[in-house]
Amino acid sequence: MPTTTPEMPAADSTTGRPSGLPGHGGNRALGVLLDSAGSMHVEHIPARPARQTPWPDWVPAQVADVFAARGVAAPWTHQAAAASHAHAGRSVIISTPAASGKSLAYLVPALTAILSGETVLYITPTKALAADQLAAINRLAIPGLHAAVLDGDSTAAERAWARGHARYLLTTPDMLHCALLPGHARWSGFFSRLRYVIVDECHGYRGVFGSHVAQVLRRLRRVVAHHTGSDALPVFILASATIAEPGGCARLLTGLTAQEVTDDGSPRGPLAFALLEPPRSGSRARQTAAAHAAHLLARLVQQNVQTLAFIRSRRGAEAVALAARGHLDEDTANQIAAYRSGYLAEDRRLLETALSEGRLTGLATTTALELGINITGLDAVLIAGWPGTWASLWQQAGRAGRGGQSAAAVLIARDDPLDTYLVRHPDLLLRHPVETAVLDPANAYVLAPHLTAAAAELPLTDADIDVFGPAALPVLDELTAAGRLRRRPAGWFALRRTRTSLRGSGSGQIRVVEKATGRLIGTVDEPSAHLLIHDGAVYLHQGDSYLVSELDLANRAALVLPGDPGYTTVARDVTELAVREVASNVRWGEASLCFGDVEVTRQVVSYAKRSTDSGTSLGEMPLNLPARRLMTRAIWWTISADLRDGLLARGINLGGAVHAAEHASIALLPLFATCDRWDIGGVSADLHPATGQLTVFVYDGHDGGAGFAERGFHAAAAWLRATRQAIADCDCERGCPSCVHSPKCGNNNHPLSKRGAIALLDVLLADAA
Ligand SMILES: [Zn+2]
Ligand SMILES: [Zn+2]
Repeated sequence: MPTTTPEMPAADSTTGRPSGLPGHGGNRALGVLLDSAGSMHVEHIPARPARQTPWPDWVPAQVADVFAARGVAAPWTHQAAAASHAHAGRSVIISTPAASGKSLAYLVPALTAILSGETVLYITPTKALAADQLAAINRLAIPGLHAAVLDGDSTAAERAWARGHARYLLTTPDMLHCALLPGHARWSGFFSRLRYVIVDECHGYRGVFGSHVAQVLRRLRRVVAHHTGSDALPVFILASATIAEPGGCARLLTGLTAQEVTDDGSPRGPLAFALLEPPRSGSRARQTAAAHAAHLLARLVQQNVQTLAFIRSRRGAEAVALAARGHLDEDTANQIAAYRSGYLAEDRRLLETALSEGRLTGLATTTALELGINITGLDAVLIAGWPGTWASLWQQAGRAGRGGQSAAAVLIARDDPLDTYLVRHPDLLLRHPVETAVLDPANAYVLAPHLTAAAAELPLTDADIDVFGPAALPVLDELTAAGRLRRRPAGWFALRRTRTSLRGSGSGQIRVVEKATGRLIGTVDEPSAHLLIHDGAVYLHQGDSYLVSELDLANRAALVLPGDPGYTTVARDVTELAVREVASNVRWGEASLCFGDVEVTRQVVSYAKRSTDSGTSLGEMPLNLPARRLMTRAIWWTISADLRDGLLARGINLGGAVHAAEHASIALLPLFATCDRWDIGGVSADLHPATGQLTVFVYDGHDGGAGFAERGFHAAAAWLRATRQAIADCDCERGCPSCVHSPKCGNNNHPLSKRGAIALLDVLLADAA
């Protein structure tokens, strides 16, 4: 069935199923789900009609014709609103669901500007997405558009062509940071005519990486203002999945005020959203989310329901496809395939075509699809495990549904506290106002290398303090004192440049190298190296397994051998924490909450092996690694001696209670701070030397902090109540992976008291705001 929706520009790769197949696959999907084992909640999200509006007057006929030729007679209301803000010179952020046509919203003003001789810079978090966008732009076949991708793989000739000719340049923040901005003089032709900077998928810029990108965009503002001679340029157009406070996100990322466009005018069919806990097999362990996804995928394909299953790891995606095929006869089995990052572009296109032509009914995929190719209009989407953010959840679920027909999405919980908590709280999951962007452009550890880089690009003046913010001043003084910058009457000049990666902590990366071939597998940021790639560690990279034969700190490399040894490893560490400064605190009756600067000293002392199949311990091996010091920020809470005595009198095991409360609170913080459980660390003690009281600390795992602990401080009451609830709701007896166990515990999950944690959190929260 032909669609005439403004799904630009990748319309030809987003076609739905061919005509002739029965519709209402969503209803059939729901039938299959309702039959399945495990506990389930189904939420019905009603359909919404389309709202269109005529092309704004300023859109040239030539641009409107390009879209008309692709079936877009008129834009949806949100597309026109965002495009008109940008055209009028107002920076704008458009924050609407997946498949709501955000690209048309930025392409209309962008193409209009290009027709009048201006240039446009498009920034995306990944190279793959830039390449896909380029292909989509080229399909528009606009004469004189001159689009080009600039990434780490571009040849010298390609770069030279782009410098001389590109009007629409697609790149990544990393390339801006290390090539375009340092070499801006050579790009003056492009920068002097730059009108729009499009920041796509901007919800992905969070934590330390997001903080780095925010500084890169501030450097870009200075360079563009220098070449255009105008502080009003460039105009930013930010595109995001649905997030809370998009204007705040835009301000954090660019330092500028942006208009918010959030009222989605695109049509939606009804969606049944199911939240599912796989059945427990036997007494304890729950069926894994992946195994359950394979089972459902097979059942759905059997019913001719076109289904996409999102699996977290590459190996997982392959395994789910294989398992699903194993449940079916050969003919039906051939309608299921796997898709993951690392596939060649041709293979990806073949799979996309097979899916859109209906030859393929089921696809198990990693989130590569979320940021790479454009498949929408499925009958059903299975999501094996909470994808980490609401933005991702809705992007994945948004792949289901087409042309007003019913569709189904299913979130399958993994056996951990966060997933379990979420599927048991449908209101939170489905009606939560999604996350806000959490990043901290004022982090001095992030600011320092960018101020040095900025001074090398153009001398820094007092006026630039407005661009980088007041936090820049003390950092400038430190850099000057350290001999990195020199203050002259005309401003600060760079004496030495430092190379920084945007995707690490700023203190460098350790390379993971295959021993036999010298092939670079990936990188691990230095603070995590002791934990993840110590001698003897099993290192997982995109679902593939490697054994670390040697961590060579002097050469900043870990040598690994491919293969799965049949066990996993967990590093054990001892952590000391000292409070440097309390920045804020609140009292909840006899309990107290603080946020501030801390110094964390961690030493990895050994690692434990655990069988992949049975989960049983295979022993512990000592390690000899130096201690690491982290200057970061933490939230911590304490209770008074009286409250502590009260708990003791009730026979509570305080050591186990505080440890279990720490674990569960770390597991739940990602709900409130848009972080990964691995981005944060915790320390707890019945009597901690830093406070002399029963204390739980939760700290950012990056130098200078990443904003997560601070967010936890501001959301403390809701966060700790959710923590208490998650523990209390779990139907286990004495604690399990779904509530108080932690996969990264430095103490082998000992001691832990589930009952004690609930009692402790009740006491803590009794007088909470
Ligand atoms: Zn439990
Ligand atoms: Zn622990």
